[in-house]
Amino acid sequence: MLRLAIQKSGRLSEDSLKLIRECGISFITSSLKLKTESTNFPLEILYLRDDDIPGYVADGVADIGIVGENVLVEEGKQALAVEKLGFSKCRLALAVPKTMEYESVQDLNGKNIATSYPNILASYLEEQGVQAHIHTISGSVEIAPSIGLAEAICDIVSSGSTLISNGLKEVERVFKSEAVLIASEGLSEEKREILDRLLFRIHAVQRASK
Ligand code: ATP
Ligand code: ZN
Repeated sequence: MLRLAIQKSGRLSEDSLKLIRECGISFITSSLKLKTESTNFPLEILYLRDDDIPGYVADGVADIGIVGENVLVEEGKQALAVEKLGFSKCRLALAVPKTMEYESVQDLNGKNIATSYPNILASYLEEQGVQAHIHTISGSVEIAPSIGLAEAICDIVSSGSTLISNGLKEVERVFKSEAVLIASEGLSEEKREILDRLLFRIHAVQRASK
C-alpha cells in the first residue's frame, strides 16, 4: 500500500483528487476524515496542510505527495520532485505600491520586503545583487505596504486582481510554480512498483488531456 499526502482543503485539493480519480482510482471522501483507502488500487490518501507535505514525505510518514513547487523549494526539498502535474499554476512576484516610481529591481536596495517565502526571495535577491530586509509574515502579505510594514512584497499571484485591489503593481517575476508529485527517497521495491503503476496512469491522463 502506497501512502499519498494531498492538501486537505485549498487550491491544490480539487485538482489533486480529480487527477487521482482520472487515474481510475476510486475512494470515498468525507470532509471529516483525515485518511481514506482506495477501493480498487493499493493507495491510501492522507489529507494534510500543504506546508506539512514535503516534511512528511521527506520523513517517510507519507510515501508520495502533491504540493506546489513554491512550498517545496521554499523548504529546500526540491530533491523529492518526481513529476510536474500542470495544475495550480501561479507565480511568486515582487510588487510595489502603484504610485512608487520603479525602474529595476535595484530600486529595492535597502527596502523592507514582506513575504511568506523568505528563502526563495533571499536567493532571488542575491542573484540580482540586491540587499533588502526580508520581513517574514505568514498571511495577508498584500496589505503590508498599506499598513507601513514594508515598501514591497513578494507573494503568489495568479491573475493579479488581488494586487490591483490593494493598490499594488507587479514589477518582477521571482519564481514560477505548479503542482508537483513528490516521492520519498527510501521507497521499498514494492512501493516503487505501485508508484510506477500510478505514474503510468498519470502519463496516460496527461496525454489524453493534451
Ligand atoms: P493550507 O491551509 O493547506 O496551508 P494555504 O492557504 O497555504 O493552505 P492555498 O492558498 O490553498 O494554500 O494554496 C496552495 C498552493 O496552491 C500554493 O502553495 C500554490 O502552489 C498554489 N496556489 C496558490 N494560489 C494560487 C492561485 N491563485 N492560483 C493557482 N494556484 C495557486
Ligand atoms: Zn499552506
